Amino acid sequence: MPIRQLSETVIDRIAAGEVVERPASVIKELVENALDAGARSVSIATAGGGKTLMRVTDDGCGIPVCELPLAVRRHCTSKLSEDLFDIRTLGFRGEALPSIGSVARLTLRSRERGADEAHEIEVQGGRLSGPRPAALSTGTVVEVRDLFHAVPARLKFLKSERAETSAITDTVRRIALAFPAVRFELSGPDRTRLVLEAGAEDDPLPRIGAILGSEFAENAVLVDAEREGVRLTGHIGLPTFHRGNALHQFVYVNGRPVRDRMMLSALRAAYADVMARDRHPVAVLFVSIDPALVDVNVHPAKADVRFRDAGLVRGLIVGALRQALAGVTVRPDTAGASGLMARFRSYSAPAQANYDFATAPFRPLDEPSGSSRGGLAEPADAAMRFEGFAPQARAEREPPAAASQPAAPSGDYPLGAARAQIDRAFVVAETGDSLVIVDQHAAHERLVYEALKEALHARPLPAQMLLIPEIVDLPEGDVDRLDAEAETFARFGLTLERFGPGAIAVRAVPAMLGQTDAAALVRDLADDLADTGSGAGLQERVDHVAATMACHGSVRSGRVLKVEEMNALLRQMETTPGSGQCNHGRPTFIELKIRDIEKLFGRR
Ligand code: ADP
Ligand code: MG
Repeated sequence: MPIRQLSETVIDRIAAGEVVERPASVIKELVENALDAGARSVSIATAGGGKTLMRVTDDGCGIPVCELPLAVRRHCTSKLSEDLFDIRTLGFRGEALPSIGSVARLTLRSRERGADEAHEIEVQGGRLSGPRPAALSTGTVVEVRDLFHAVPARLKFLKSERAETSAITDTVRRIALAFPAVRFELSGPDRTRLVLEAGAEDDPLPRIGAILGSEFAENAVLVDAEREGVRLTGHIGLPTFHRGNALHQFVYVNGRPVRDRMMLSALRAAYADVMARDRHPVAVLFVSIDPALVDVNVHPAKADVRFRDAGLVRGLIVGALRQALAGVTVRPDTAGASGLMARFRSYSAPAQANYDFATAPFRPLDEPSGSSRGGLAEPADAAMRFEGFAPQARAEREPPAAASQPAAPSGDYPLGAARAQIDRAFVVAETGDSLVIVDQHAAHERLVYEALKEALHARPLPAQMLLIPEIVDLPEGDVDRLDAEAETFARFGLTLERFGPGAIAVRAVPAMLGQTDAAALVRDLADDLADTGSGAGLQERVDHVAATMACHGSVRSGRVLKVEEMNALLRQMETTPGSGQCNHGRPTFIELKIRDIEKLFGRR
């Protein structure tokens, strides 16, 4: 075939592929245009997940009638002069409207500020008609119908109406966070409505609260820092306010929502010392930087950025966040312990697993059975009590176990006998020749996890009905995902029911978890589902649910354990496969040989 120039329509369609991926990307472009036009109020209406209709109405500056045809022509923009490194608007490529016009029916109705008449044009399959007079009092209305009607292949890639609607909502929320002074209204199918009232430009907190929940606003720390002309502002969650995934992190560069790996990884790094690796902080961060120092023209969707000096921005984020967090957290000094740490070894899982779940059903630690094996009834602190400082009392090189040891058959068990609990988080046990320290939460979580998985093979797990169902408010997308997996949850004894578009009713919780915060559990499960998606296989999803439930059903650090409870934990660990590691791969206990302790004291 000879080389020839492609038609405008085909060129636009090719370009459209990059700009318009799904309904939410159309909404993004149209809302950005409204904001660039100085709108104080933006309304968005959708139908059919945006596939049948999307309409964005603004009260911005409008478009002069003579420019209407230009607005839908490729590479025509009122925003960019010739300097690609001085971009102060959200749009600049002059691509959105023509791209949309090539894959949908597009109507553009506008009234330039001060003009006494409004006009509209229409684009269908790349063909333009108008302008003709129309009725509109102010601003601009852009209407997009039958998205991808001319590109059926694209239509096939779209998700369900619900999923597309929730993607649109996410898009609007993300943009709205950066424009607290603009009113947003989003109305979709089945009466869903999101109204964000205009607030003060310099007080983003009410908007943040409206979008991320007042809970976040109450648990957030203000960030405001500057380095070499780059400014970082925003609100970040306290380390205790963590979520199960990174979907609650919003980063902006000069008011533009971006997906920047560097910025997100800086955020993670800032929290590394104060948050478990599998948890994610919640944050809203704005970087303001000289437009000349950042390239936003990386991709047509404009969500990627390149900083001239990425190190500077990263350093600013990590430094400023750590400083903000330092005001609210106490960080332990672990430097001196490293020599000692080298002497510890983490225990590998018992080779023989002979725990029989049929005959020895899992018992939550909350209800100690009283059958403390091995006669370990002495008070937990017996061995910890100081016997007085008597250096001569012990003969040299005397075997250490002999002297002040309360009678206890500690050698009988690989993990020994519980002697004490420290910091309400660690169980200290003694075996015939070593000291064992168990992370009570991690260990118990693993036990619950194994028990849940094991028990599931046999039959659905027993449920504990709630007298009053607990109603958990959640974003619609989360409700959908939970609802779709209701059957899986039911196998665990967790009964969930859709309760309107934005809530889930919890009717029963797994009996095995005992007293548990049902709302927190459901939120974490929703986060998990959003992370793994429905693409994951059943087994994977079931394991995931088990892991999340295990975390909720476990003795949290911070609980005082009775000595019987501690010993019960140790005995169960000994017989449960894989109990040497928690669900996140960290050891559940460490062991220090007495002989190494002697070395530490220079006795060997
Ligand atoms: P870009 O935003 O990159 O300039 P678009 O294709 O999105 O490209 O829009 C083309 C032009 O149409 C804009 O530069 C602007 O002049 C005009 N325009 C689009 N939407 C609006 C609106 N809501 N209000 C005023 N002008 C608009
Ligand atoms: Mg635009």
